[in-house]
Amino acid sequence: MVSTYLDYNATAPLRPEAKQAMIVVMGAPGNPSSVHEYGQMARAHVEEARRNVAALVGALPENIIFTSGGTEANHQALNAFSDRVIITTPVEHMAVLAAAPDALLIDVDDNGIIDLDHLENLLRTYRGGALVSVMAANNETGVIQPLDAVVRLAREYDALVHSDAVQHFGKGFAGLRSSGVDMLTVSAHKIGGPTGVGALVIRDGLSVPPVLIGGGQESRRRGGTENLSGIVGFGAAAAAVQAAGDGWLTQLQTWHQNLEDYLLAKSDAVIFGRQVERLANTSAIAMPGRMAETQVMRFDLAGVAVSAGAACSSGKVAASHVLEAMKAGDLAHQTIRVSSGWASTEEDFNRFAEIWLQVYKNQV
Ligand code: PLP
Repeated sequence: MVSTYLDYNATAPLRPEAKQAMIVVMGAPGNPSSVHEYGQMARAHVEEARRNVAALVGALPENIIFTSGGTEANHQALNAFSDRVIITTPVEHMAVLAAAPDALLIDVDDNGIIDLDHLENLLRTYRGGALVSVMAANNETGVIQPLDAVVRLAREYDALVHSDAVQHFGKGFAGLRSSGVDMLTVSAHKIGGPTGVGALVIRDGLSVPPVLIGGGQESRRRGGTENLSGIVGFGAAAAAVQAAGDGWLTQLQTWHQNLEDYLLAKSDAVIFGRQVERLANTSAIAMPGRMAETQVMRFDLAGVAVSAGAACSSGKVAASHVLEAMKAGDLAHQTIRVSSGWASTEEDFNRFAEIWLQVYKNQV
């Protein structure tokens, strides 16, 4: 049985506030488009959630389009302007890379940070006709991209900017207005809301066509009866994150820092992105010579849930495309991700460190 959960970037445990709010609305029939009292109540819940998500993401409520998650929001953003050339990065989540298979890729350095000169060259070539999509923070390494500079360059060359902020949202992200991007993707389950709900957030005045066409829900920007309990859980999680302030992030950062210092002192571990700005909750740790899958299985047997950057599909071991883009060599197969969140404790980190050293010394 899992007793130590350190895989928050995959999904965070549901916050009690979200669970409670969802239970309340699950009891009654709830189609927010219905005219009767049940419908009105459902509508009120959706709009309250929209205000809570808007407050956390620094946008106006009317600019939140609820979707089935980050994947759908990315898909909508990247398909909204089909006349534009898409410029993105090789370290994006597959939800971006697969949605824009013909995109041009910006070079990245060994930390996975984009090369702004290369971006400028691409923008110069496609002046007035580009959509740039750069993630706010990477899901595998936590490395934060220079979004401010991306937005500045994009303005100069009359490009639009989308950012997949699924991992940065709720963890110190500046917000839509402060970042200056045109479109932003967020997802509920990374902040302690339920899976299967997210949002595309757009700047004032931007018109984004629907991908799912049906009823006129979400102001004609996303057809389909709203996922009432999911949206309500998302809103409650957003409110809980906002109420918690930033203190917990400082705490997580200290625990990650201490863990990394400890492992580096005891082994030849490699920590990706250690010298650059990173999310407070993420450590990508390579154990040279030991396959990531083996590590993850050993951790699992010891009751510790972490994940590999490398994915295993149809029996084939694939290296992490993020670490490959960072030119990590063999370490792209040997790195696991430790990601923490709202319910993590110092004990979780101590337990992880203990098992990590046992695996390292081949004792488990
Ligand atoms: N983008 C990033 C950076 C992610 O980490 C994830 C989830 O792992 C997604 C998009 C997809 O979000 P969702 O699971 O809500 O579809």
